[in-house]
Amino acid sequence: MKSKAAQQLQDLHYFGEFGGVNPSISDSSTYTFLSAKTMFDTFEGNTEGCYLYSRHSSPSNLYLGEAMAALENTESANVYASGMGAITATVMQLCAANQHIVASRTIYGGTYALMKNFLPKLHINTSFVDITNLKKVEAAITETTKVLYCESVSNPLLEIADIEGLSALARKYGIALVVDNTFSPLTIKPADLGADVVIHSLTKFINGTSDCVAGAVCASTEFCLALKDVNDGAGMLMGSTLDSLRASSILKNMRTLHIRMKKHSENAQYLAEKFETDGLRVVYPGLESHRGHKDLKRQMNAEYGFGGMLTIDVGSLEKANLLMESMQKENLGYLAVSLGFYKTLFSAPGTSTSSEIPLEEQQEMGLTDGLIRFSIGLDNDIENTYLRMRKCMEQLGIFETLALSV
Ligand SMILES: *Cc1c(COP(=O)(O)O)cnc(C)c1O
Repeated sequence: MKSKAAQQLQDLHYFGEFGGVNPSISDSSTYTFLSAKTMFDTFEGNTEGCYLYSRHSSPSNLYLGEAMAALENTESANVYASGMGAITATVMQLCAANQHIVASRTIYGGTYALMKNFLPKLHINTSFVDITNLKKVEAAITETTKVLYCESVSNPLLEIADIEGLSALARKYGIALVVDNTFSPLTIKPADLGADVVIHSLTKFINGTSDCVAGAVCASTEFCLALKDVNDGAGMLMGSTLDSLRASSILKNMRTLHIRMKKHSENAQYLAEKFETDGLRVVYPGLESHRGHKDLKRQMNAEYGFGGMLTIDVGSLEKANLLMESMQKENLGYLAVSLGFYKTLFSAPGTSTSSEIPLEEQQEMGLTDGLIRFSIGLDNDIENTYLRMRKCMEQLGIFETLALSV
């Protein structure tokens, strides 16, 4: 059966002011009221159906929010100026001083740094655990725990969270399960599996053109309204508001998400299988050798494949750097962080996006020096891409090095 989200996204349509096929962009920071009484009511929190001020909401941001809610099958969604804006608003809304978070130890470097270095200043502490081990997760939950936090497919190690299992734990202890689904839009639907809040960095696959940063929180209407409450909503008060022009361009890009995700997955699966056959150490959830392969298979929409992210380990940081430079010279992709672009992007996570994680912790969790993280692009001839990548590897003697190390 085809998943419904892509069709739901296509069915959402808002005409522009003059009957345009795209909605008009609301180009205003503030809105007029016909009566003073309505403005007063709006400040009192009765904001339903009214626009007050664009930090609170704007038509363009609401359109994008509706599309995100359709994508993730949640009641509602709010959009933010970045993925981190969405994450900080969510965590600060759910936790007060002297409360506690249990988080996966393999999460996005920025989220890790927020929880490890910043939140303790507000007396919010985090225990980092191996999220694939439900016993360890349960053991870390205390009386003050308010949030269980993970990524459905983790960055950069591509660990797969058992969202149903985590959700059962969250229910048992009355805490909120927050899942960052940035790596797997359409493939995984965390809310259908029991997540309370689903977060996205729209910067990545969802926008797909690497031209802006943006984020979203998909959740119940109650939670989304609480986040933008004018008196105590963390989203409203910390102010990471997405600009209407950007919301509008992201919404337009979202209409091709289903096609792009299929192509990213198809290309990544092809390369992963080839690299594995060649004897490289490949981590890709679509390979049977991947630890989380079965977990992902059970939870995914097969239609969209196993995603566009893979890692290979070429033995040393020096080799990783040489290979990335050589692939960039051959126009096979760009040496850049981030993901979800039409072009393949690669970086060495140990030294870039996860640089917040201390070296010994990185080694403990399998983040080795020679690791290269790929966001596989939309190449039309992936076989040709593979042959040219292989050539770069051969020229650097990568296969010989690996043969020696086994
Ligand atoms: C990039 C990323 C973020 C942060 O998003 P920004 O839009 O850069 O603020 C959060 N989580 C994951 C998994 C990411 O890849």
